[in-house]
Amino acid sequence: MKGFPLIISGPSGSGKDTLINELVKKDLGIITSTSYTTRKARKGETNGQDYFFVDEKSFRKAIDNDEMIEYVKYENNYYGTPKCFVDEKIKEGKIVILKIDVVGADRIRKLYNDSVSIFIMPPSLETLKERLVNRNTEKKDEIILRLEIAKKEILKSSDFDYIIVNNEPEEMVDTAVKIINAHKKMNEGK
Ligand code: 5GP
Repeated sequence: MKGFPLIISGPSGSGKDTLINELVKKDLGIITSTSYTTRKARKGETNGQDYFFVDEKSFRKAIDNDEMIEYVKYENNYYGTPKCFVDEKIKEGKIVILKIDVVGADRIRKLYNDSVSIFIMPPSLETLKERLVNRNTEKKDEIILRLEIAKKEILKSSDFDYIIVNNEPEEMVDTAVKIINAHKKMNEGK
């Protein structure tokens, strides 16, 4: 089977990490791409696993060396997807998960016409706010900013191949598995 990029986007707190953690546990031929970021690591995050945490100078150098497929500035930090890793894994027949924002998703769609994109929609902005407050990883002003970004991201959700409303995590995972299996079937023999 030919591999493909699987874009997973959605507002901060929508449930992308829960989904991705569950998907990689399943035997679906999925691998996650680790992005580069200039954001500081949060409590519990590991370098090389959650992100490659780098300073702005190193990030700029990677851009200059054409090592990123795409990158964005989100809040006041840069985030970028490594080119070499993604292309290599696709060649090996893997489904490569890219957990990226809606701008990055646009770029990947243009570069990889066989990409599949899923937008994780929170049931409501109120629920999203509750989740961000309860997970206790961002300060109050950061939560306000992330909710403002969320409103803009939701407006772009119709550009995605699929929208999954995260009412219930298990249901969200089941739906994503069905989507992935359908695309794997379509790619068989390619
Ligand atoms: P967080 O700081 O919550 O880890 O991520 C903030 C936002 O950046 C999320 O929407 C996440 O999906 C996005 N993001 C993470 N890595 C990348 C990347 O490599 N490229 C793009 N375009 N967005 C990314």
